[in-house]
Amino acid sequence: MEKKKPCVVKDLCIACGLCNAMVPTVFDWDDDGKMKAIVDHVPEGFEQDVDDAKISCPTEAIIVD
Ligand code: SF4
Repeated sequence: MEKKKPCVVKDLCIACGLCNAMVPTVFDWDDDGKMKAIVDHVPEGFEQDVDDAKISCPTEAIIVD
């Protein structure tokens, strides 16, 4: 099965920091003060954590596909 690619839609991100707090392995701050995905694909074992972060993002800025 192909691994999923995480992505943050910068225009939607309000920089609340939640996804970084939940999954720092996948989401970290970008130079512009917003969040970015720091991996190309969701690492093995982090699928549920990334899904949880996606669901928890207050502005639905996280895409995983
Ligand atoms: S949870 Fe959503 S709004 Fe908050 S920092 Fe992450 S992507 Fe941005």
